[in-house]
Amino acid sequence: MIWTDGFIAFVTGLLAVVLLLTAWRRQQARRRRELAPFRPEWRARLERRMGPLLQRLTPEQRRLHERRVVEFLADIRIKGCNGFLVTDEVRLLIAGMACLMLLRPDAYVFRGLRTVLVYPRAFWVRHQEPDELGLVSDEPELRLGESWNGERVILSWEDVEAALAGDAVNVLVHEFAHQLDAENPETEGAPLLPDYTRWSKVMMREYRALERRSSQVLDDYGLEGPTEFFAVATEAYFQRGTELRLLHPELYGLLRDYYRIETSD
Ligand SMILES: [Zn+2]
Repeated sequence: MIWTDGFIAFVTGLLAVVLLLTAWRRQQARRRRELAPFRPEWRARLERRMGPLLQRLTPEQRRLHERRVVEFLADIRIKGCNGFLVTDEVRLLIAGMACLMLLRPDAYVFRGLRTVLVYPRAFWVRHQEPDELGLVSDEPELRLGESWNGERVILSWEDVEAALAGDAVNVLVHEFAHQLDAENPETEGAPLLPDYTRWSKVMMREYRALERRSSQVLDDYGLEGPTEFFAVATEAYFQRGTELRLLHPELYGLLRDYYRIETSD
């Protein structure tokens, strides 16, 4: 009979140790985050690469942005692929740009996201999902980025750099918009919102308009479905705010009220 008093005391003790260890680890992680302040030199580095956007923030939003960057860096692993070296600069720029999408006071720092994988440039993937005819193609496809179920983001660094230099394509905000979309599994093409009335109305109208006629600022790729439309609109919002406001004022207003930053001149 192994269920002796001594054995039970031993198991209970072991369990207590495991529980204490888990609690201690969590506390350590929390303390590490509290102890890792936003370094003053980061401010100048971010300013250099995304100054025009940062200058639009109020002092309060600046503080919020810096807090989110610290949290992002503490919670999300950034890993290089195909020999790409993830430097402090790379980590800071990814966190800095992604957190510009989190200026809502109640925003989560990408709930569920664990890892960001960074490739040096566009990468080849083989699609395993069947198409509408049920056929699985074995043809590799070239990708700038991917977002997996709110858990993982994959980016081509060359294209992140291009976006930071002002390119109309911004793979980073595109993929992170998919992450925001995934925070609400109930809907497609919308982040977590208290009320969807205005969002659905505006998005639906803009989607239908793009179906009828191409836009100078919204990529036709948005017509792949509501999820892609939200991501494409987010790209236009961050990269070509002035044109988006002129050509699609309602869509611009909707995204401004969500992202809480003015991107138009
Ligand atoms: Zn997409």
